[in-house]
Amino acid sequence: MLTMFRFIRTLATDFVDLIFPTLCLGCNQSLGANEKILCTKCRINLPETSQHKEPYDLNLLNKFAGKVPIQFLASYVYFTKGGIVQKLIHGIKYKGQKEAAKEVANWYGHQLLVESKLIGKIDVIIGVPLHKSRLQQRGYNQADWIAEGLSEALNVPMRTDVLMRNKFKESQTRKNRLERWENVKTVFTVNNHNEIKDKNIILVDDVLTTGSTIEACAIELLRAGCKSVGVLTLAATHR
Ligand SMILES: [Zn+2]
Repeated sequence: MLTMFRFIRTLATDFVDLIFPTLCLGCNQSLGANEKILCTKCRINLPETSQHKEPYDLNLLNKFAGKVPIQFLASYVYFTKGGIVQKLIHGIKYKGQKEAAKEVANWYGHQLLVESKLIGKIDVIIGVPLHKSRLQQRGYNQADWIAEGLSEALNVPMRTDVLMRNKFKESQTRKNRLERWENVKTVFTVNNHNEIKDKNIILVDDVLTTGSTIEACAIELLRAGCKSVGVLTLAATHR
């Protein structure tokens, strides 16, 4: 009986190893039985932004001022070169660690549930769509996995069939800044308008940098009739 139990337990552990990495994505040390993705030390050392406590902070929203009305903005952690977050994001984007994206988003979601007043005002969660060519290459859209982790934790539905990214018609490289922006603007389209009509949307991405992709997505969603757009990302580059 005991042998059988051990056998089943080994099977279960092997199965979990398939889904979750057994080494910490931050420091490469072996993970303990109750640790997922990051060891306890790395998780404690995550440079959290605490922005969810002040998601309507105008300094944060300044990025979008005069461009598109973003309801609120918060990122889970700061992206610092060579730090835990860079390794985490690298794993999520380039090493197939999509479960890590979901798990970390789940931690964030639970933090939002406990500490943020945003919840209850959200109807739909949408990940920023990936270029089709990159989606084929990577096999998954990390923003959708982050959206799924948040969706589970917050108990808010997510959709992948509303916001679409079109193929580039021509190369970006020979264009000037304004032309490039015009090109980005036409990259996103909205399907299934009824699913977002008069709804409060959260747009989700992995790293917030200039915000121009978020801006282009938000413009299309608002044009399609949603009530508001807020933004949550796993990481942000600037303090
Ligand atoms: Zn670690």
